[in-house]
Amino acid sequence: MKYIAALDQGTTSSRTILYDEDMRIISSAQREFRQIYPKPGWVEHDPFDILSTQTETLREAVAKANINPKDILSIGIANQRETTIVWDRRTGRPVCNAIVWQCRRTADICKELKSSGVEPELSYRTGLVADAYFSGTKAAWILRNIPGASELAKAGHLLFGTNDSWLIWNITKERNHLTDASNASRTMLFNIHTLDWDNSMLNILGIPRSMLPRVMPCAASYGHLRKDTLGVEIPICGVAGDQQAALFGQACFMPGSAKNTYGTGCFLLMNTGDKPILSKNRLLTTVAWILDGKPTYALEGSVFMGGATIQWLRDELEMIRSAPESEELACSVHDAGGMYLVPAFAGLGAPWWDMYARGTAVGMTRGTGRAHFVRAALESIAFQSADVITAMETDAAVRINNLKVDGGASANSFLMQFQADLLSTPVVRPESVETTAFGAACFAGLASGVFSKAEDISLKWRSGRVFIPSGDTDKMRAHIDGWHRAVERAKNWTE
Ligand code: ADP
Repeated sequence: MKYIAALDQGTTSSRTILYDEDMRIISSAQREFRQIYPKPGWVEHDPFDILSTQTETLREAVAKANINPKDILSIGIANQRETTIVWDRRTGRPVCNAIVWQCRRTADICKELKSSGVEPELSYRTGLVADAYFSGTKAAWILRNIPGASELAKAGHLLFGTNDSWLIWNITKERNHLTDASNASRTMLFNIHTLDWDNSMLNILGIPRSMLPRVMPCAASYGHLRKDTLGVEIPICGVAGDQQAALFGQACFMPGSAKNTYGTGCFLLMNTGDKPILSKNRLLTTVAWILDGKPTYALEGSVFMGGATIQWLRDELEMIRSAPESEELACSVHDAGGMYLVPAFAGLGAPWWDMYARGTAVGMTRGTGRAHFVRAALESIAFQSADVITAMETDAAVRINNLKVDGGASANSFLMQFQADLLSTPVVRPESVETTAFGAACFAGLASGVFSKAEDISLKWRSGRVFIPSGDTDKMRAHIDGWHRAVERAKNWTE
């Protein structure tokens, strides 16, 4: 038997999952690492924590599976996107901690970009919006604020990378400085039309080209794992950002196929085929993957408060003891009794984009109880996702014919059924919701000959439960109207 190792470098933990050739999980290991909050709104990781937890989980997963590392055919990497590391190529030392995607320290640089009128050009070239999430302003911040960094960069000593690049540079014997196109397309430095770093964005942000990694297809040779990790050299040949890896791992290969990950937030991606579709609803346009030199694009939208709404019920309101209890309570009543909860705790994202919106509960009566409240909270996750999907369908002028789901809250069958009812579209939950690691393993499997083409992967993707819509479209339309009236009341609260 031969195996594939998937490294899943996430925001709060690093994981490794080992798959056999039939793409069944044979072992996994996970290590959390330190989240560093130096100031309100700032989030950092220690780059060496990222590296050590990732290699430790690889060793641990191999030990648990009790296999010979020689039998690992290849390694795939999926990673938290946008997090930025700048290091000195001579010493391997980062000039400062990794600036995490969530970090808001570059909000002012984004404001500058907006006020100087470059946002439309930025959106066209990169598919993104001028927001602090993306790597470009984080790299610019490092060059502007870390003493000596700008001079070192000009002298060609500094390297920029997202976590995939940092890992590859450190764990390959060749010390390759590479990234893949899906990660590159989250930097705000990458032109999604020419599929190359964008000179105009590099000039605007003052980033020398010499710092940037070479951009590779998602299934390609990234070098070999150094011998000191497992005693053998293993080819690394699959790389993608976590959400794109999940889209691939859900076998969303056809234009119009889509997945929603219900984690802390929700991440929706829809395959739009070989042409980038620029959104009229401020969704992001991103490279899904490049295979055999050909790009596939996706539209992406996110919901800030997904599973986090349920955490809020548990931790702040103490209405439930555990997340799964929310399902039991929601099912104990016929409906939310006319109540809507809009969890706009951090404003509203796509398609509303109102940072002044705040959490709102409306429609309550004397009969509203805890179960109604919890049900309304679960429904809000589905309503917000449905709004993003409708925006995607409008932008792409296609109708999603089924929605693949994953992430922690996809375990909630009430939520999945309600989502299917709202969308009038079947919701498909796979047997394994570890789709990010699976996607990374599939890219590696393609490059190492386990699969000859992407379509072979569809045969390995195993459906779990399918939620068929109830068909009561009039009732759902009225329900969506109610939700939108509630959203109107949440908007523009703090301005
Ligand atoms: P992340 O990767 O963002 O940390 P996960 O995919 O691990 O998130 O999912 C965790 C989230 O899912 C939490 O916000 C939790 O509240 C929510 N969650 C987990 N199980 C359930 C459930 N049965 N019903 C509703 N929400 C759930």
